[in-house]
Amino acid sequence: MKKEDYKFSFEVYDAIDELAEADAVLLRQAREVTQFAHAPYSHFRVGAVAALENGQIVTGTNQENASFPIGLCAERVMLASSSSLFPGIPIKTIAISYNNEKGDSSHPISPCGLCRQSLLEYEAKFKEPIRIILGGLQGKVYIIEKADMLLPLSFTANELNV
Ligand SMILES: [Zn+2]
Repeated sequence: MKKEDYKFSFEVYDAIDELAEADAVLLRQAREVTQFAHAPYSHFRVGAVAALENGQIVTGTNQENASFPIGLCAERVMLASSSSLFPGIPIKTIAISYNNEKGDSSHPISPCGLCRQSLLEYEAKFKEPIRIILGGLQGKVYIIEKADMLLPLSFTANELNV
């Protein structure tokens, strides 16, 4: 038996004003689009914004439903929109923010497991890293250089022999 190590590292910024301008713009957009979430049940509004290789910006917000399990996360709404509107165009960077109407929004939140799997799919499809910027409406900001860092030992298309 031997133990394997998995190293995960990410950048931590004290606030949005420490970011490079392009990253700050993207995070500001993620904050702004939280207003378009359909979140009448959780009152937890999430915004995801993607900067594509062709310079286009695609947004997504969480879309809840009275039938709770069919609700969609902002990240997967954004990924589906990006793939539908701009097929074949890689995603370079995404920013994710949130507005918690029942509490504060002072620290970064990370994509859920489903969204991590979805992000990995698009990263693998284009064979290019997707940078991820995470931040609330205020407070620290995290930057992760590759989506697959969020999902070690992941299940991928390689397992399907495709
Ligand atoms: Zn999710």
